[in-house]
Parts: sequence; structure tokens; C-alpha cells
Amino acid sequence: RRVVSPKKKKDDNTVDRGLRPLSLGEYVGQSKTKEKLKIFIQAARDRKEALDHVMLYGPPGLGKTTLANIIANELSVNIHQTSGPAIERPGDLASILTNLQPSDVLFIDEIHRLNKMVEEILYPAMEDYCLDIIIGKGPSARSVRLDLAPFTLVGATTKAGRLSSPLRDRFGVINRLEFYKQEELQEIVIRSADILNVDIVNHGALEIARRSRGTPRIANRLLKRVRDFAEVKANGIINREVVDSALKLLEIDELGLDRIDHKLLKTIMLKFRGGPVGLNTLAAAISEETETIEDVYEPYLLQLGFLERTPRGRTATTKAYQHLNIKEEIE
Ligand code: ADP
Repeated sequence: RRVVSPKKKKDDNTVDRGLRPLSLGEYVGQSKTKEKLKIFIQAARDRKEALDHVMLYGPPGLGKTTLANIIANELSVNIHQTSGPAIERPGDLASILTNLQPSDVLFIDEIHRLNKMVEEILYPAMEDYCLDIIIGKGPSARSVRLDLAPFTLVGATTKAGRLSSPLRDRFGVINRLEFYKQEELQEIVIRSADILNVDIVNHGALEIARRSRGTPRIANRLLKRVRDFAEVKANGIINREVVDSALKLLEIDELGLDRIDHKLLKTIMLKFRGGPVGLNTLAAAISEETETIEDVYEPYLLQLGFLERTPRGRTATTKAYQHLNIKEEIE
């Protein structure tokens, strides 16, 4: 539905598979995170031990899943992939854990959504590589301790603040992924175009990068859409003009904002006189869920400096008024 949403969509899968970098060397940007991981991975390999548990956090589409896979690749171990909401009962997690081979990576996406009972199984597993299970019921019930293979948990979340502190404390390495710079996104677009066999000129790639909201997933998705346009409406070559016309058709502006971002900002400006307006009120006014606003729209608007979060709610900034060409009422 929404082309610039950083959230994963069904048709991303086929493209994602081929475009995912497989090694740290191919992974563009995030230099601080890469530098740290390189050292820790090397040290774990040299000692023939499992890598310490790694937490990755940041907005969707910035490369957390990709990085989890790269960590497993660089360690030459298997990766088992699951997500917080997928693990419903403690038994589900127990069976995943008992199937791990030494040094394997267990990747849990949306780890902030694990339920409490499941999370409690995870504590001894992370700390001592063991599992406490209760056998039997009533007075004859007894607790048995099972040893697990040493493993690495890679947890990903868009909301570090939602993690319980006992869980957070059990991660040895905590990395925050940042929005990508334009040159980095340009590099990603050029790399993806090469893999997809698409003709693109440098300023075409830069123009896609400029409108990708700092997010590789969006850059790849825009590239796909612009390619369609280039093939049908132009001669197949992606240049700046082609990007421009294609994105105009998709109603994505020169900063990568779409209709919903505009609606959100305009609602604050026109309906709530620039704010502050509370998140719930704003969500109701534009018929979106509060969580979607917080996870999907706001991070980039905050990054652009178009929105501010104050204790009394959200406000639109002068920069946002200028971008939308709306006159700011000064009281
Ligand atoms: P997340 O798990 O944070 O939502 P993903 O790891 O699924 O994000 O990344 C989305 C897509 O963006 C991937 O398919 C990959 O092709 C691309 N991507 C992400 N990070 C990078 C990067 N650093 N370099 C190149 N491509 C990247």
C-alpha cells in the first residue's frame, strides 16, 4: 500500500533475498557497529567460543535482520530465525533452544514482544546456557536443569525502551543502527541495481537515495518501482528525470515524504494550530494506530527536524511549515 513505509511487505521477500549483503565487507554504512562486531567476531572465532549475545535496535528497514545473518556467516555457524510474537509458549522456546548446535546464532526479531513467561526461560539460557524445566504436576513436580549448547542470541527491536532491564542486561553487545547517509544509500542503490541488472546513472541513484528516508529497504523498493517506470515510459535507463517523474506519480516528495506524512504534519498545523497535540489525539485524527505513528512515521520526521516530541505532545517545526509551504501562525 504505502511505498515509503520502512516496514517489510510481502513482495520485499523475493527482492530482499538477492540484495542482502552476506558479509560485513559488503554491508554498507553503520561503521561503528561494524567495527565493534568485527573485533568481537574475530575474538570469538579465535577462542572457538560462542560470540556474546548481541542486541540490535533501530527503526525498521535499517538492516538488523541482514546483520544477524552476516554475524552467523562470519562465524560460519547456522542461524535460526524467529520473532517475539511467534514464540507463544515456554515450550516453543525450549524446543528451539535444545536444537541449537554449539556457537549457533538464534535470531529473535521484535524481541520486545516476547511474553513474560517465555522471557524468563531466556534468562538462564543466555546466562548459563541452561534450561530449567518443571516435570510433573502438583506435589510430585520437580525442576530439572538441562544443559544447552553455547549459543549467541541476536535480538532485534525497534523499541529499545520496551525491553525489560533483566533482558537488556544480559546482552554483551548493544548496537543502535542509525539512518543511512545519502552517499551510503546511493552506494546501496548502485549495488542493488547491479545485482538486478538495471541501468542507472549516478545522479539517478543519488535522487533515489535522497528520497529513501535514510532506509535501505525503502531505497531498494523505490529502485524497483522506478525500474518499472523506466522500462515502460523511458528507455530503461534510470536517470534523475526518470526518478523524478516516477516518484511524482507515486506521490513521494523530494524528501521522501508521502501523502500520509503530509497529512500528519498538516493535521498538526491546521487542526491543532501547530501543536502540541497528544499522540492518541493525533492518531485518531488521521485514523492511524499510535504504534504505527511512533514506529513508522515519526522517526524520520524527527530526524528531519520537522516534528518535535514535547511532554505535552507533538509539535510541527518551522522547517516543516516551510517544506509544506504553509504559513505558520505565531501567537
Ligand atoms: P530490518 O531487519 O532492520 O527491518 P533488513 O535487514 O530486513 O532490515 O533490511 C532491509 C533490506 O535493506 C535488506 O533486504 C537489504 O537488502 C537492505 N539492506 C539493509 N542494510 C543494508 C546495508 N547496510 N547495506 C546494503 N543493503 C542493506
